[in-house]
Amino acid sequence: MNNSSSSSSKKKSVTIGVLGFQGDIEENVAATGQALQELQMDGNVKIVRYPHEIENINGLILPGGESTVQSTLIAIQQSQPVLKKRISEGLPVLGTCAGMIMLSKRAYDRVIGDTKPKLIGNLDIVIERNAFGRQSDSFEADLSISMLSKEAFKGVFIRAPVVTEVGKNVEVICKLNNRIVAVKQENIIGTAFHPELSGDSRIHRHLIEMALEFKNKNGS
Ligand code: GLN
Repeated sequence: MNNSSSSSSKKKSVTIGVLGFQGDIEENVAATGQALQELQMDGNVKIVRYPHEIENINGLILPGGESTVQSTLIAIQQSQPVLKKRISEGLPVLGTCAGMIMLSKRAYDRVIGDTKPKLIGNLDIVIERNAFGRQSDSFEADLSISMLSKEAFKGVFIRAPVVTEVGKNVEVICKLNNRIVAVKQENIIGTAFHPELSGDSRIHRHLIEMALEFKNKNGS
């Protein structure tokens, strides 16, 4: 999507990248497009894979899918160092499900233990993968997310992880049955569920607002 910018709206234009190796990439492109429209903002959303593409965005989404596959592909394409660097410089990022796993510093599977996936690691959390069971145990639940308006957010959980440990700079923004399912650490948001599948664009809108602030601060 590319809404061309008029001079009056130029300042409010952002470019959001969706990491395009594996998983629900198109769903996140669509949800970001919807969020831009609802915010009445000018902006681009584009699929990114290579270091030079990742250097030229104001916000990033790491989609859900399968973290063991994603970690291999990101490593093969040599995008891991640039992702690590940009996120540590403050690039706003949303990681959903496998995307949150990719951002975490350690992840182990509920059944098979630690398979040592090559994670990006900027988010100071430990994750249990497939914590609610496997594909057949997927479900939806109404969630209360502290950084959003009060109205319940429909959480879509598919082979979802939970967060089992958080570092001191990590804010827990959502729990389900006392298990941590969403966190925020400065410029990083991680969700165990799939906001792009809920039809509710509030989390994507939040990321876009963070991206706009980051862009205005950094002048790029
Ligand atoms: N279970 C998957 C993993 O460990 C995540 C599932 C998802 O992203 N929906 O990577």
